[in-house]
Amino acid sequence: MDLELNEEQRLLVESVRRVMDDICTPEYIRKCDQEEYFPQEVWDAWVELGLLGLPFPEQYGGYGGDVLDMTLVGEEIGRKGYDFLGFFGVPVFNALNVLRHGSEEQKNHYIPKLIRGEIRMSISMTEPEAGSDVGAMRSTAVKDGDEWVINGQKVFSTGADMPDNIINLYVRTDTSVSHRKGTSLFLVDKDLPGVEIRRLNTLGRKMLGTNEIFFNDVRVPNNCLIGPVNEGWDCLLSGLLLERIVTTAGYAGNAQTVVEQALSYARERQQFGQPIGEFQSIAHMLADMQTEVDAARMLMLRAALKLARGETALREVSQAKLFGSEAFVKVANMGMQILGGYSYMMEFDMQRHFRDSRSTTITAGTSQMQRNMIAGTMGLKVR
Ligand SMILES: Cc1cc2nc3c(=O)[nH]c(=O)nc-3n(C[C@H](O)[C@H](O)[C@H](O)COP(=O)(O)OP(=O)(O)OC[C@H]3O[C@@H](n4cnc5c(N)ncnc54)[C@H](O)[C@@H]3O)c2cc1C
Repeated sequence: MDLELNEEQRLLVESVRRVMDDICTPEYIRKCDQEEYFPQEVWDAWVELGLLGLPFPEQYGGYGGDVLDMTLVGEEIGRKGYDFLGFFGVPVFNALNVLRHGSEEQKNHYIPKLIRGEIRMSISMTEPEAGSDVGAMRSTAVKDGDEWVINGQKVFSTGADMPDNIINLYVRTDTSVSHRKGTSLFLVDKDLPGVEIRRLNTLGRKMLGTNEIFFNDVRVPNNCLIGPVNEGWDCLLSGLLLERIVTTAGYAGNAQTVVEQALSYARERQQFGQPIGEFQSIAHMLADMQTEVDAARMLMLRAALKLARGETALREVSQAKLFGSEAFVKVANMGMQILGGYSYMMEFDMQRHFRDSRSTTITAGTSQMQRNMIAGTMGLKVR
């Protein structure tokens, strides 16, 4: 399965590629990774291109793009490195939740600001005791007059310390009922008194960063609550399929870059008087790598097309996410082998792909959770 792009889609992909190629030189990407440099230049270019408005309706300053447009863009951005996909996806996915569940006033306030690049958004669900079992979260918000008072701790929040960031925070607002009936979503300015963000020392994805956040009597006005109180669980679930498929597109884009870099190295590197790519074992590894990436893309496109037709695609998206992340890890691992000792050196990019890929079978629902979901669609009740 491949996709015949229409003229608009072709122009969209080309314009994203041009912008990414202009700014994201190998030196720039290394700086983002090794110095944890915040890529403001990339953000500004996306703003100028109108890219942050892609999936939003025109009335809020957007372009009304669909899930396929988002998937194509995700793949293109991911080619420069999966961390860039997070930089694009995390703010946009969260603002889409405001679009789905916010009041008209909230939509008019937040969405145009995001499209103009004035704010960013991150998400905080995970807690020390609530990972895959995210419903076990303990952080709370308690009503006090016209305000809510938030207390608790979140971990592993991608990009929470970005400048001008609004944390999309899931907390319990009723602990006497199940998480499905007692969770709410709040938008919390990361610079509010009582919010303390600490960047964690991670293996990869150094550019955006992963953070723990402490909330100590943080006060937010009632208009920071998105959707009705206690209905945050619906917000959390409502965008999952789109988010997962665009994220999967980022895996495919980055994995394709891994193949291209490994192939180019195998053509140039000479050992025993010949390019290493002419040793059958290396050539076969490259053939396997491209096959993995092509298969990942096909699953991704199948799921995206189904979603774009408005059909439910839980199984297809879970399969694409599972296969795409596992393929990315496999391909990056093989890329390391092909580059030999040089892959282990920080000035070669393969080690970054390897490090960044390793997060992908864990985040956005682990591979085990994807398998549980796929098995569930097959009528199996997996514990
Ligand atoms: C780089 C990075 C960025 C992240 N960004 C964010 C973010 O922006 N916002 C946010 O809220 N969270 C974020 N996370 C958290 C991420 O979503 C969680 O790490 C993930 O959900 C897994 O939770 P856990 O790490 O607590 O692992 P656990 O849930 O403790 O899982 C440990 C192991 O047990 C397995 N397991 C658990 N339950 C089951 C089950 N029912 N069946 C089979 N196997 C199971 C898992 O698959 C895994 O292998 C991020 C994590 C990382 C590493």
